[in-house]
Parts: sequence; C-alpha cells; structure tokens
Amino acid sequence: MDKPISEIVHLAHMPKVVMNQGAGGEAMQDFLSKHITSHFPKTGCEVSLDSMDDSAIVDDIVFTTDGHTVKPLFFPGGDMGMICAAGTVNDISVMGAKPLALSCAVILEEGLDTDIVDRIMGSFGRTAEGCGVPIVTGDTKVVESGAVDQLFMCTSAVGKRSEHLDHNIEVASQYRNFDSGWCTDDNVRPGDAIIASGYLGDHGVALLSFREGYGFDSEIKSDVAPLNRMIEKILKTGGITAMKDPTRGGMANTLNEWCSKSRVGMEIEYPRIPLREGVVSACDLLGIDPLSIGNEGKVMIACVPDMADEVVRTLRSTPEGRDAAVIGYAKEGAPRVILRTEVGGRRILEAPAGDPVPRIC
Ligand code: MG
Repeated sequence: MDKPISEIVHLAHMPKVVMNQGAGGEAMQDFLSKHITSHFPKTGCEVSLDSMDDSAIVDDIVFTTDGHTVKPLFFPGGDMGMICAAGTVNDISVMGAKPLALSCAVILEEGLDTDIVDRIMGSFGRTAEGCGVPIVTGDTKVVESGAVDQLFMCTSAVGKRSEHLDHNIEVASQYRNFDSGWCTDDNVRPGDAIIASGYLGDHGVALLSFREGYGFDSEIKSDVAPLNRMIEKILKTGGITAMKDPTRGGMANTLNEWCSKSRVGMEIEYPRIPLREGVVSACDLLGIDPLSIGNEGKVMIACVPDMADEVVRTLRSTPEGRDAAVIGYAKEGAPRVILRTEVGGRRILEAPAGDPVPRIC
C-alpha cells in the first residue's frame, strides 16, 4: 500500500546522517548524545558510556570497541589490520589497564580478492601477537557487492587493571589529591603537565597524501602502533593522572575533551609540540590544522608536574616514545585550550567540528 502523502513529506524532511557526525569531533559528540547513547539505558558502572572515555569499566573489567573503515586498506606505514589491533589495544591501555584479549568481526564485500583478506588478517594477527594480546573470538559476514567498501572490521577488547596502576596513583597522590580509580578524562587538575608522546599528525597526512595522490613527502608514514608496553613503563614510573590516544580530531579534540570533562583550562606552547616540517607544510597547503588530524600511535598524557621529566625520560627510552615532550600545563580557569605561539601570541585552540580527513581509521 502507498504511504499517505503526509508521511512521504515527513520522511523527505527527515535530517540525514552526514560525514562529520562520525568524524570524532564536536559534531559527533552532539550526534551521539541525540541519536545513539540517548536510546541506551543508564548504567551504574564505574566508568560508564556517559563519560565517553576510551573504555568502559564494568566490575573492574575494562571493555572497549571500535569500528574500522579506513580507506585505502593499505597505506604508507600500515594497513587496516594494524589499526584494528593497535587502536583497540591503545583504548584499553590509556585507562591504566592491561589488554587481555581481542575480538574481531569482519564484514566482507562479495568479489573481494581473498589475497587482500589474507594480507589484512595476517597483519592483524602479527600486530596482536607482537603486542602480546591474543584474538580469541570473532564473526565473519559477506554482503553483496556495494553494500560495504571492500572490507569493514569491528574489534573489541577486554583488559584488567594494570599491576602498576596502584603504584602510579600512589606516586601522584604524593603531590595532589587523586580522586579517580583510573586514568580517566575527568582527572586533569590545574598544574598538571601535558605531554605528547611523539610527533603529531603523521597518520592523517600520510593517509591523505597517499589516498589523494598529493605525494607531499614520501617520508611521512603512519605512526600506527600498539602502545601497551610503553604505557606499562610510564605507569611504573608513576604520577600520571590521565591518558588519551589522540585519534580522530587529533590533539585539539583530546585536550578540549579533557578541559571540559575535568573543568580546567590549558596553556600549550606551540613550539614545544612535536610536529614534522613535512606535516606542517602539507597541512598549510591543504588549509587543515595538524593539531586536528588523527594519530594512531600516540598518547597524550597528563601528569603531576614533579614527575613530568621522569615520565618523559621513560617515554624516550622506548621506540614509540623517543620524541616525547612536555608541551604545556593545565591551569585554573575557563575550560579551553590556549595556544602560545612562537612570537608570543595567544590563540584559542578550538575543538574541531570533526577530523578534516575522513575514513582515516
Ligand atoms: Mg581513544
């Protein structure tokens, strides 16, 4: 039976989903709270969906999930298989947890070369094995040609409290009150040092340059890497109050999330931010901000200021953290990020509406 005219008119005016709503910035936060999470019952777990942190904590089990739609599947420095293992392991680790096991759901487009499936799964398996986290469960579906673009994957992971988290909290507590049981986004306080674990923007620029054929600088490769071992080491050093992997929306999104969830301000020294010249010049040409594009092998760290040098020293002793630097401090005041530039200027680093580079993870 035909739909009544009134219903057809209504459907025609229905708002449609747009790319920005899945791009990791403010537009996505808004979309999630209106159309996704608003439909789910509230839970009383220790870190719940409402806190929109990297993982949830349910009865001391750390739990996270990711969807992967990166295009193309293979890019300079990595591939979807590596992102699947690294991204999910990192979301568990930044809570102050040890990842225990991964799951993987694969949705394949009919007609895809089985060789591509082998290469992506081989890479996923090797990356997971390399960081010591087994893949223990999964599901595979094939859909008709055109229903997905080659291959989409969803990975989940569970983890448990790191054996070094209590020590880390003890060290931080010598300097200030630590009122979270984990390294959550709401745990940054005025005075905390803000650390970047290495060069920012590599993944977004490598992917965009390769995908669009710009070829800016063939030296720029994705930074995709599991960070669980590096994070264990800095927890052992101690004094860390919050951690987050600056994926979609980059450092700008991570720091703004911390400011609003922790109700602190921040002052960041632009010259101290590790940025490759090639990344800065590529972003200049494209009119995008290197601080708003995604990373896949970096972590932003807040820690008590007295331990900052020690934490940076530990980071620099690891292959993934060798370019780590203190880039600024949390401050009292309005929840916003002030960027101090080379010439002594100050500007507000806004949270991006979304990552300017789509389908990067
Ligand atoms: Mg994350």
